[in-house]
Amino acid sequence: MSQTTITFWGAAGQVTGSCHLVESHGRRILLDAGLFQGRRQESHRLNAETPFDPRQLDAVILSHAHIDHSGRLPLLAKRGFDGPIHATPATRDLCAVMLADSAHIQESDFRYLQKRGRAGAEAEPLYTAADALKVQELMHAHPYGRSFHVDGTGYTASFTDAGHILGSASVALQGDRDGDPRIVFSGDIGRWEQPIIRDPSAPRGPIDALIIESTYALRSHGTVRSASEMLGEIVRRVARRGGKILIPSFALGRTQELVYALHELLREDAIPDIPIYIDSPLAFAATDVFRMHPEIFDRTEPLVREEAHLLDHPNVHYIRDVADSKRLNGLGGPAVIIAASGMMESGRILHHLINHGDSPKNAIVIVGFQAEHTLGRRILEGRDPVRIYGEERHIGAEVITINGYSAHADKDELRRWLRDLGRPVHRAFCVHGEPDSLEAMKKILEEEGVPRVDVPTHGETFEI
Ligand SMILES: [Zn+2]
Ligand SMILES: [Zn+2]
Repeated sequence: MSQTTITFWGAAGQVTGSCHLVESHGRRILLDAGLFQGRRQESHRLNAETPFDPRQLDAVILSHAHIDHSGRLPLLAKRGFDGPIHATPATRDLCAVMLADSAHIQESDFRYLQKRGRAGAEAEPLYTAADALKVQELMHAHPYGRSFHVDGTGYTASFTDAGHILGSASVALQGDRDGDPRIVFSGDIGRWEQPIIRDPSAPRGPIDALIIESTYALRSHGTVRSASEMLGEIVRRVARRGGKILIPSFALGRTQELVYALHELLREDAIPDIPIYIDSPLAFAATDVFRMHPEIFDRTEPLVREEAHLLDHPNVHYIRDVADSKRLNGLGGPAVIIAASGMMESGRILHHLINHGDSPKNAIVIVGFQAEHTLGRRILEGRDPVRIYGEERHIGAEVITINGYSAHADKDELRRWLRDLGRPVHRAFCVHGEPDSLEAMKKILEEEGVPRVDVPTHGETFEI
């Protein structure tokens, strides 16, 4: 009988909260420790519980810095985890800014609600900036393609570029005992021809258990090029009527991709000469991490080769101070405002929605995935009014979705990744998707010849 089990403690039956526990011969390795996002009370409950003892964990392997994969690491540190956290160098550096920001947002949202007498238990911060700092002390960085020992566990691991965001990785995990399974965790799989980021490369070798994301197993995205053309068309049209273009965006990844696209459009004179505000201290810091890691940029792209200052342009203004952000409330004339959070759950985008979301002159451009029960999803579905900070707000702005900017592989790209993957794949687990996408991913895997495919539920354990 195999001595190895996997328990799915997040992103099981849903997208967020990525967290999978591998237990083998009394050793425990956690793949990701992400935050749940969505309905406040339910996600707070899921985030606050640690269904295993963090002190009993031997190591964490982190696929990438997105908060739905990394955002519970500070909570683990707060609750006594002090083992190594293995990640790529860019993921380590991005986590320094992402996790500090996650702590900061929780603390400031709590204070905001407290002032208004609306701070329930579900608004209480899960951890502080000091807990986020502890995480950085535990980080061990490993470049792509180089195996490393997961100390004390008898496992060796290696990262390949998942092509999703800067530093994102798929993980291959191999035990050194006879009969130990080889486990591959896809992390979030990116797209081919995404700007800045290299194309996804799947791990090689036979696989006993594959844990694979399913976000867009049902969808076909437009191409990155068509997304950029659509963005250009929207900016031209809304600027002509004097409106503002609000783009809620993940500070990490999507924002840099948008800056890159707008930079290209400005270079080609395809959009008018209007200011572009990146209203996010986190995006400012994350962009700095991009500047630190050109070694993993995709140098097959002309803009990457020709432009030393890829993420800078005279029209692009990075805003850090709250006072400068508030000044945007009274801003006259057309402008692009990019602000976090990507699913409009928190952050400065909420203030821009309050100030600019009601005018039909303006546009809200949705460029990222909107999970169920988030404000972003409600606005995407055309709900009006919506609740922001507990108050009903009218949404009069035009709401437009651009799909091509997804950082996630679509159904054809997921299949392409699978075909690149080492063989044979004995069994697979579909995670990180809404129920119908998980079923669609299961079907793709079966069509690609994987004999046994499961869709785990939250907390379900499998022997492998
Ligand atoms: Zn991600
Ligand atoms: Zn994810």
